[in-house]
Amino acid sequence: MTKDIATPIRTQQIMAKYDLKVKKSLGQNFLIDPNILRKIVGQANLTKKSAAIEIGPGIGALTEHLAREAGKVLAFEIDQRLLPVLEDTLSPYDNISIVHADILKTDVQAAIDSELAGYDDIVVVANLPYYVTTPIILKLLLEKLPIRGMVVMLQKEVAERITAKPGTKAYGSLSIAIQYYTQAEMALTVPKSVFLPQPNVDSAVIHMTKREVPEVKVIDEDFFFTVTRGSFVQRRKTILNNLQVAMPLGKEKKELILKALEEAEVDPTRRGETLTIKEFGLLADKLYAYFR
Ligand code: SAM
Repeated sequence: MTKDIATPIRTQQIMAKYDLKVKKSLGQNFLIDPNILRKIVGQANLTKKSAAIEIGPGIGALTEHLAREAGKVLAFEIDQRLLPVLEDTLSPYDNISIVHADILKTDVQAAIDSELAGYDDIVVVANLPYYVTTPIILKLLLEKLPIRGMVVMLQKEVAERITAKPGTKAYGSLSIAIQYYTQAEMALTVPKSVFLPQPNVDSAVIHMTKREVPEVKVIDEDFFFTVTRGSFVQRRKTILNNLQVAMPLGKEKKELILKALEEAEVDPTRRGETLTIKEFGLLADKLYAYFR
């Protein structure tokens, strides 16, 4: 096995060799602790029959650990400067494809079709750039890619929101959007000392397993998400008050909102943060009948 990229000395050597200054604007915080990498990759349960998709390989710290465990790694990196670096650091591995692309603008399904044909078990594993964690996760879920799940490092505060259960302060429309598609669990909290440079915020790793069918069946997904987002706009207000703002002409049509709440057996004085995803699903379907 080759020497790990993710040690402080090797990372500094690589950066010096290529005169590489990290770009904070691209969320570049490189991992320098092989133990954390082993733990992250362990969460993904990879075998040589699996493929891993990585977003932001950086200088290859996580990529090489994935290449050791998976049959194939497909990695998307936005920063062109890192391509020659990756070619060098990952040269011992023949099962990695690096694509120079902004993950938010690229056709991931097309890349899967061309690079990962024959792999039925595909997992996203990434130390995400923190300035775009939520858009990346939502894009990968909304595009309904053929993936088993995702293991990602992100800001601890966002990890708490994504994995939050009803009745907690962190629970909100982001928890619902992601838990609608996945079972999301906190896997590890990670100290700042494992990064170079160290980020300003605490980090965590979460594990999201895609559900075979969404957590609740709804008539219209977009409408369901409109209802959930609208129910948290003013967290301290009741669901009735929030829906009066969120639904078209909601103030004039208060009676219809009350009727839908009654049909869904949701007390109008409750706050959005107390409703489960199933309750939101039923409520959205009842509201849909009056406000679609
Ligand atoms: N995987 C490496 C590691 O763990 O050491 C680097 C992780 S670093 C937190 C995030 C990486 O994502 C950087 O390499 C950065 O250039 C890349 N990146 C930032 N925005 C991106 C985007 N929109 N699409 C693809 N890669 C991106």
